[in-house]
This record gives sequence, C-alpha cells and structure tokens, in this order.
Amino acid sequence: IVTKLPNVGTTIFTVMSALASEKGAVNLGQGFPDFNCDPSLVQAVTNAMQDGLNQYPPMAGVQVLREAIADKVEKLYGHHYDPLTEITVTAGATQGILTSVLCAVHAGDEVIVIEPVYDCYVPAIELAGGIPVFVQMTVDQRGYSIPWDKVKAAVTPKTHMIMVNTPHNPTGTVMKAADVAALADIVRGTDILILSDEVYEHMVYDGAPHESLARHPELAQRTFINSSFGKTYHVTGWKVGFVAAPAAMTAEFRKVHQFNVFTVNTPVQYGLAAYMKDPAPYLDLPAFYQKKRDLFRDGLKNTRFELLPSEGTYFQCVKYGAISDLSEAEFCKWLTTEIGVAAIPVSAFYNTPKESGIVRFCYAKKDETLRLALDRLAKL
Ligand code: PMP
Ligand code: GLN
Repeated sequence: IVTKLPNVGTTIFTVMSALASEKGAVNLGQGFPDFNCDPSLVQAVTNAMQDGLNQYPPMAGVQVLREAIADKVEKLYGHHYDPLTEITVTAGATQGILTSVLCAVHAGDEVIVIEPVYDCYVPAIELAGGIPVFVQMTVDQRGYSIPWDKVKAAVTPKTHMIMVNTPHNPTGTVMKAADVAALADIVRGTDILILSDEVYEHMVYDGAPHESLARHPELAQRTFINSSFGKTYHVTGWKVGFVAAPAAMTAEFRKVHQFNVFTVNTPVQYGLAAYMKDPAPYLDLPAFYQKKRDLFRDGLKNTRFELLPSEGTYFQCVKYGAISDLSEAEFCKWLTTEIGVAAIPVSAFYNTPKESGIVRFCYAKKDETLRLALDRLAKL
C-alpha cells in the first residue's frame, strides 16, 4: 500500500501515555481527567439504555440533544442555530474536524493553520487533497499570540479555509475581541471558510469571555464551530461532540458525515440531553479548573521551570531552559523516565521543525495527583 500520510506516525499523546504507564510516571501528558464524571450523567445514560433507546438515532443526532445544544449556544453566545438544519452531533471533535475539512476543502485548496497546531488538523487537510499553509504563533515573555499580519500575508486566491482554536491547545491562550476583529478583517469580502475548534469553550479563566465565533454574525455565517462534550463533562472516552454551522454548510457536512460515521451513540445522546437541562456543570467549570490551574502554577513556582500564561484549556506550558538543554521530545522522555512525570513536547505541534524549549503539562487531575507531580518536579 502506498501511504497517503507519509509524515504521520502514532500520535504523541498515545506514545507519551504508553511511556508514562510503562514507567509508572504521573501522567500529565495526554489531556484527560483522572477523576470521574458526575454520577448523575452516568445515571442519565443508564436510564436511556434501560428505556430501550438503543437503536440508530437520526443521522444528524437525536433532536432533544440538538435542541439542548442550540439553546445553550443561543443563551451563551446570542446566535440562534436551527437544531434541524444547523447542528450535527459528531463522534467527538476529531470526527467533526475531519468531516468539516473533507466536505469543504477541494484538491489544491490552501488551508491556513496556525502553529503550534492540534495534531488532527493537518492530516485532515492532506486527506482532502488540500495544502496546509503554516503561520507560527509568536512566543515571547508574555506567552503565545497570533501574528495576524502574517496570517493576512499568507492568504492567496487559493485560500479556502482558516483553522483557529480558542482556547488553544497546547498554549492555553484565549482569543480576545481584537483577535476576532483581525480575523474578520482578513476574511471580509472573500469566500474563505473558517473552522473554529472550541472544544475548551467552558475553560476560560479570570473572568474572561469565551470569544466563540458564534458571537460574531459576520463570522458565524462562514464558520464550522466544533465542540466536544468530552472536555466539558469529564468524559473524553465517550467521544461525542457537535458541529454548528449555517444550513448550507451543514448540508454539505452531513453528506460526508452520513458516510463517515452515519450517526452517533444513541443512549449517550439522550443522557447528555437530559443532563444539559442544568447549566450549572458547564457554568461552574471555569472556577473548578481555575483552582487546579492555580494550585499547579503555585507549585511550579518552587521549581526551575519558567511559567507561560494559561488563560484557558487545562494545559500549562513551561520553559525548561534552566533545567536542561535536551530537545523537547528528549526532555519529555527523560522527565517521564527519570523524574516520573510525563509531559508533551510542544515541538510535536509543529510541522516545520521547531524547538522552543517548551513542554506542556495537563492539570485536569485530582489535587493529590498534581501534588505528587509537583513533589517530583520540585527536585529538579
Ligand atoms: N481539538 C482539540 C484542540 C483538542 O484538544 C481535542 C482533544 N484533545 C480535540 C479537538 C478532539 O476532541 P474529541 O476527543 O472530542 O475528539
Ligand atoms: N487532545 C488531547 C491532548 O491534547 C489528546 C487526545 C488524543 O489523545 N487524541 O492531549
């Protein structure tokens, strides 16, 4: 077989989790909580199964869940998506992103991606026959930011899509109103589509708003918004998310979706719909994770790591130049094997080789797990 993805190996998340488990390290690498979800969410899914809701649901997702999603998006971001024609339930954001790209990007189209970039974006573009065009974020003492002048300069007549992610994995940066305005300026008067990955929409800290592109009518009309219940409800293994997009874009999305997965796990959808009636779990999430972020950051101040900001997500990036001059990948291996704490090299989020001496920790962990990791890191 002739490979279609010559540059792709096994994802760094899988590689680091395997090494962490082999070495018995505290796994702050792959992003997932080490605590359980709310038992009443499990009960809601169990109820659906016991009620016999176990056969194929409608292709686009069960209607009560699409309605619950539309209500939530409208309450939070002020944009009404029609649950019948503008919201599709996906098998996690990974499938939502792949399907958004496959349905919209044609062979030879250019797609602008901003590095560091989450690992599933570029393979999706390549499978569609598109051409990824990379713009690197700027990184300095204040952390990472998007150089919009460079994004603008990367636009050509072939540019068909720009992919953005806020809050951003791995850097933890959050787009501000000025970022959104800059993006709007770039696409105004063009046919460029946007894919906005908002899986961490409920993890923005210090009282800042989540600048969903749904808030901006001008952008919403050309955007596939992707989100994931895995992040919001501490159930990354359930692999359920959604895509919200204008009707004409959703129609194309569903043409691919129906032959990609056709549809998504029925009882989990009903369970989520019932659970979403109470907004508290997602409204309380920023406070919940902000405490963990602060615990972890306070602890790291006793180490030789240099902290970058973490405005959102459950990731903390650090510079390790005072500790080691190994490459990021080698440093992560060493940290996992010798110190017993797994991290992810930020270089894994670049397609063009880049070493910044920065690694990413995940703080979606029990406080005791974070303390154990901090004890180990304090020895450095
Ligand atoms: N986008 C980003 C930025 C992510 O961090 C993740 C999950 N780690 C995904 C997409 C994929 O989400 P899901 O697990 O719902 O497929
Ligand atoms: N998105 C998670 C992370 O960034 C990992 C998900 C995966 O393993 N694909 O760590």
